[in-house]
Order: sequence, then C-alpha cells, then structure tokens
Amino acid sequence: MQIENSLCDYDAVETINREMRKQLQTLVQQKYFKFYKLKLYGTCPFWTENHLCMNEDCGVAVMDESAIPEEWTSAALGAISSPSNGKLFQPYKSCQLKDQDFCQVDDEALSDGVYVDLVANPERFTGYSGPSAAKVWDAIYDENCFNIAHKMQEASHCEQCSLDREADEDQFGGKLKSAAAVGISLARNPLAVVDALDRPGQKKEIKNNVGSNMASSFSPLAESVNPLLAGAMQEEEVCLEKRVFYRMISGLHASISIHICDEYFNQTSGTWGPNLECFVSRVGAHPDRLENIYFDYAILVRAVTKLSGYLKNYEFCSGHPEEDARVKAMVDRLIETSTKSPAIFDEKAMFVGPGAQALKMEFRDHFRNITKIMDCVGCEKCRLWGKVQTSGLGTALKVLFSYNDEHLNPLKNPNILQRTEIVALFNTLNRLSESVESITMFREMYMEQQYGG
Ligand code: FAD
Repeated sequence: MQIENSLCDYDAVETINREMRKQLQTLVQQKYFKFYKLKLYGTCPFWTENHLCMNEDCGVAVMDESAIPEEWTSAALGAISSPSNGKLFQPYKSCQLKDQDFCQVDDEALSDGVYVDLVANPERFTGYSGPSAAKVWDAIYDENCFNIAHKMQEASHCEQCSLDREADEDQFGGKLKSAAAVGISLARNPLAVVDALDRPGQKKEIKNNVGSNMASSFSPLAESVNPLLAGAMQEEEVCLEKRVFYRMISGLHASISIHICDEYFNQTSGTWGPNLECFVSRVGAHPDRLENIYFDYAILVRAVTKLSGYLKNYEFCSGHPEEDARVKAMVDRLIETSTKSPAIFDEKAMFVGPGAQALKMEFRDHFRNITKIMDCVGCEKCRLWGKVQTSGLGTALKVLFSYNDEHLNPLKNPNILQRTEIVALFNTLNRLSESVESITMFREMYMEQQYGG
C-alpha cells in the first residue's frame, strides 16, 4: 500500500489536495450534492440509555420535502423502482451486488428519512462530549476486533482489541505529546521535521522516539521512515486488514476533531474560529492520527478514480438540465484531477491469501456495525456528519473491494450506487480535503506562535 510505504506520499496528498480543494468546495455547494436524505432519528441498537445533547449547536434544521427536486421525492423514486414503470426500471443484474454494502445505506426511495441541507448544517464544534461521546468512540474502536484476523495470527482473545488501541496510542504518539510541533509537521516528512526542530539535546531524543514509537505500531510506515526498523516491526504482525480498519476509523476521528478545532466556539469571546491548542492536543501531537487522515484521503481518491468510468456516464438529475450539465462538468474535472494524480492507495494488496474472503466479510460486517453505531450518537449534528462520513467511507470500500470494472459498467449496472452514496462519497472526500488544508493552516499558526513566522 503506497501510502504506507513512501514518505513522498504525504506531499503527494497535499499536492493533489491543492488542485482538488476548490473543485470539491464548489461541487458540494450544488443542490445535487448538498441535499442529503437520511434516517436521522433511528434508535440506538446497542444500548438503551442515551444522553441527548440539548445545545442549540447540536440541532439540525430539517428540510421540507417541497424544496426537494421532484425527481428525488419518495413518490417519484418509488415509481422508478416499480417494475410497472417500464424503461425507467433498471434492476440490479444480481441482487447479490447489494449484499456488498459496507454500510447501512438509507434507501432514498423507501426510507422514512428526512432531507437535510449539508451546507446549512456544517460539521463544527457543538459541545457534545463526556461519557456519551466517549462511549460511542469506544464502541467504534471495539469493532476493530477481528476474530479471523486473530485466528490467523493464532492470537486468542477478542479483548486483545482494546489493549491494541491503548498500545497504538501510547507507544506511537505518547512520548511525542510534549513536542507538539513534531506531530504538526510529521505528516509531511517525519525526519525533515526533526531537522526543523534541531535544538541542542532535543534532536536525537526525538529522532529516537519517532523510531521506537513507530516500530511498535504501524510497521510499514515505520519501515519507510527508517529501514533499520524493519526487523523490530515484524514482531507485531498485525494483519494488514486490521491495521487498515483501525487507521480508517482513527483518520475519521482525527478529521472530525480537526473540524471541531477549526470551527471552535470560544465561550469567553462568543466567537467562532480556529483553536490551535485544541488542534495540537487532539491531533497535532499524535503523528499517527495525522497520518491516518492522509490515509483516508488516499482511499477516497482511489475510489473516485476507480469510479471514473461509471461517473462519466452517470446522470446527475435534479430536474434542471442546465444545473445538471454544470454538475456533470464539475465531476468530470474532479475525476480528471484524481486520475492524473499518482496512485497512492493500492487496494489489491488487501484480502489476498488464505481466508481472504471470510476476512473481507468480517471487515464488511464490522464496518456496517460502525454505521449502525451512529444511531447512538447523542447529538443530531454529530450524528448527521457521522452518518454521511461513515457512509462515504463505506461506499469507497464497496467500490474498491466488492466491485470490479465489469460491475461498475454504467450500461450494465446504472444504479449500482444510490444518489445518497455518491453524495456521501464526495462530501466525505470534501471533509477530509478540508482537514488536509487545515493541517497546513494550523502548522503555520504553530510556527508563527513558536518562532514568529
Ligand atoms: P474524544 O475525541 O472523545 O476521544 C476519546 C479518546 O479517543 C481520546 O481520549 C483518545 O484516547 C482517543 N482518540 C482521540 N482521537 C483519536 C484518533 N484520531 N485516533 C485514535 N484514538 C483517538 N463534537 C463536536 O463538537 N462536533 C461534531 O461534529 C462532533 N461529531 C462527532 C461525531 C461522532 C461520530 C462522535 C462519536 C462524536 C462527535 N463529537 C463531535 C464529539 C467529539 O468527537 C469528542 O468526543 C468530544 O469533543 C470530546 O473530545 P475528547 O477530547 O474528550 O476526546
């Protein structure tokens, strides 16, 4: 997986992002991409007590269906799904294709969901925290427990999972927390950062910490940092799929944290704005979390690239032909950018070898569970964005691991993806793209604060 294997890839992500940033920003403002239908008020299937955030900022403004293009309304979509509607009816060639979903997809045609304008309900600081939020994050990370992966490693207990997480956290970032700048810049180039911090007595110590911490957690990346670490890394032998799963959720968590810190509400001044301290403590001082954001970004870009043929023939129908043509041109431009960027994620390295199919099913089921856990989030706005982004990542996983180019042939399977999945995919990419941009902004803020520019 190249993103784990080359230092240059962090620069590659930032370079791609500079090109994609504006394109994505404009795209998600379009009606097609900003109106999202979801089940916002589902009940938590995993526990009963649920603290609800009553802060004004936790609320979501739901849309009236009269503001929605007629083509998407339940009545119209219900009609499209009906066989009696002749040529508009485009059944899946095989119902098995739908079994490949990595997330619980809310069916736009049939569900009792609500429409939300994503632009009018930005993901930002809401004040949702405490035991409720912690319980949800814990439940999400507990899904990183793979029976098959463990069996493959001849490890015995599932309880191992929570220990793994603590180990990842402590060993990887722990010692670096005091040297926040290391984390801030590590995502660009770990060793260059250490050089940048070349202060007497500190350089060597940090370099050693980077080495030892990395060696004990995400081995392939550590390998790229220092080939001498390769031997030590073999000891861990966490299977690639499990590591990928962890990195995906940690990247999502870190990205959400960045949005909170980027649009933070200062209760003293009553103003919204970036909060450097928040960023440093939650993300900047943890190199692994930073890296995992880039990792998620790479997965999403790869999914968009793989979907290029399908999207080129996709009809973005909102009932306004001129607007639809504009949206199509925007998506085409984005695809062009993604396809000419270097391949930074190679999905072919995953789910190969003995037990691969069973492991893939387990990976899928665990990821689906995460999308269900979103119903336990006690803050409507956090739940909304949690659902959008887990659905976006789930769609990327489905595209990468469940479908080959034949499945993604728009003439054979024009409806293989629902509108909500395409909307979620691009909005999730946009949120990660914002995070990558914010990292640069926070890095500059930090340098300014520490060294006066
Ligand atoms: P948390 O972010 O709650 O983290 C809990 C623990 O997880 C940490 O102590 C640390 O050990 C570990 N951890 C933290 N980050 C990572 C990482 N990247 N990788 C691995 N481990 C990590 N709040 C808002 O204000 N706005 C939102 O839009 C919002 N959306 C949310 C969406 C979801 C799905 C959830 C579950 C919560 C959301 N929250 C949101 C709450 C927010 O994520 C935090 O839980 C809250 O701000 C409290 O933060 P905290 O500092 O206690 O640590």
